[in-house]
Amino acid sequence: MAKLLEIDKVRAGYDAINVLWDISLTAEEGKLTCILGPNGGGKTTLMRAIMGLIPLRQGAIRFGGKDISNVPTWNLVADGLTMIPEGRMIFRDMTVEDNLLIGGFTRRCRANARANLEMAYSTFPRLKERRHQLASSLSGGEAQMLAMGRGLMEEPKLILVDEPSLGLSPLLTDEVMAILEQLKAQGRTIILVEQNTHKALKIADHVYLVRGGKVVLSERKEDVDMDRLHDLYFARDV
Ligand code: ATP
Repeated sequence: MAKLLEIDKVRAGYDAINVLWDISLTAEEGKLTCILGPNGGGKTTLMRAIMGLIPLRQGAIRFGGKDISNVPTWNLVADGLTMIPEGRMIFRDMTVEDNLLIGGFTRRCRANARANLEMAYSTFPRLKERRHQLASSLSGGEAQMLAMGRGLMEEPKLILVDEPSLGLSPLLTDEVMAILEQLKAQGRTIILVEQNTHKALKIADHVYLVRGGKVVLSERKEDVDMDRLHDLYFARDV
């Protein structure tokens, strides 16, 4: 399997604080790579670094073999990377459909906007029913679906999904996980950041555990020993 994304000893952070300490990981094409880890471990920071939202202080990121270290975010989106951010970040005062259409803003996707809209609606039928409603009227689960649908409008090769289950009921979380599984079955490459370890493990192919800004475990899903994962997750000092 080809490596679609390669992160090589990346260091990044905010002002005087360094958060990521020489993180290396890869995401294989067509697979779901899951990044687990406790609060504050640096998962969202890693997503931001991949998307060019914060600069790399050291190391490199390659996407499809091309060095994308410190490439501006808009160029990365045009190249096929998309992030479905934690907290969804939908435009609450716009309709569901306008939120989706905003997702397909690159020149490459604009011509396919109608077809992509239908694809988003077929993946998320509930969004079609609510297409003329303001996004502010959506439930948490629907808002997550809207954020995911907006991401799909970019025709992404790689989808970064940051904590999609945040604030959702167990039932809706299962629904979101089923949709991620469906996207994987369509051949998409996904990086999923999750705190819901058990649910994420069910759909993952490869698992990384990140804490203290470092990778402390990297294993194929079949090889994960839950006791060891638990110990590393809650270890006092790593
Ligand atoms: P969570 O699950 O809580 O989102 P996380 O693993 O995604 O955790 P990050 O959000 O990446 O962790 O945070 C890692 C560290 O970086 C934390 O100590 C956090 O306080 C700090 N941090 C995050 N965002 C900023 C920022 N904008 N400015 C300064 N520090 C930040």
